[in-house]
Amino acid sequence: MTPPLVITAAITGSVTSADETPHLPISWDEIVEAAVTSSAAGAAIIHLHAREPDGTPTQDPEIFRELVDRINSAGCEAILNLSTGSAGGRANLEQRSECLELGPEMATLDCGSMNFGEERVFSNPYSWLRDTAHRMRALGIRPEIEAFDTGMIANGRRLIDEGAIEGPGVWQLCLGVSGGAPADLSTVAHMLGQLPAGAAWSLLGIGIHQLELNMLSIAFGGHARTGLEDNIYYRRGELAESNAQLVARVVRLAGEFGRPVATPVEARALLGITPARDEAAA
Ligand code: ZN
Repeated sequence: MTPPLVITAAITGSVTSADETPHLPISWDEIVEAAVTSSAAGAAIIHLHAREPDGTPTQDPEIFRELVDRINSAGCEAILNLSTGSAGGRANLEQRSECLELGPEMATLDCGSMNFGEERVFSNPYSWLRDTAHRMRALGIRPEIEAFDTGMIANGRRLIDEGAIEGPGVWQLCLGVSGGAPADLSTVAHMLGQLPAGAAWSLLGIGIHQLELNMLSIAFGGHARTGLEDNIYYRRGELAESNAQLVARVVRLAGEFGRPVATPVEARALLGITPARDEAAA
């Protein structure tokens, strides 16, 4: 039985800039609005990066707190998945995990190091991964195990074997980044074959590969990630107008495949996510 489709909207990221598209949410009001409208369009998870008021990416936990509070106050019930990335190389390892103290339901864990584009090395030493995974587990935060190549899958499996992450885990296979695994069919098949049995998996594709991988995920029992963090186009030569527009397309495709779209409540049950504190108390 194919599970309902969990859609993640990656609404702003830390690499895309306003120079590339005027539709990227970068101010706090825009980020909150994108979260609310993406959730209303069908996204059960909002993957969130923080930005300074002027749009500069940051891992400042106080800015994360502001955004999370505003998104919750706006009535958005989606699962919030906070980035523990480097804010485009601006944050050190210690700063990257400070947002975990906010107790989000989910947070990313990039399970290895890699070249990232032309100039950057995205550094994620194993000792940091282990410490961060244990911290997430202690705080009841579900890690999204992000793998940009097969070595990162091996690291994720090792974290599960060591008890730092509850298995079989929630996996995001990130394909098409310059420096990581390519977004092609044989790579997807190879990487999926290396996941633990019964793992929940999602694919993300950069640029033109976003839609291709959305369809693969929908057709073959995975979950889907869309949004302007990964791709700014709706179709070749035509910018996407909003994150919600991209989410709505994934919802329509799921309908064609007869795949129901998970609500946030269903997604929590599917992915083994502990509801946020106030809900748990209610
Ligand atoms: Zn991200």
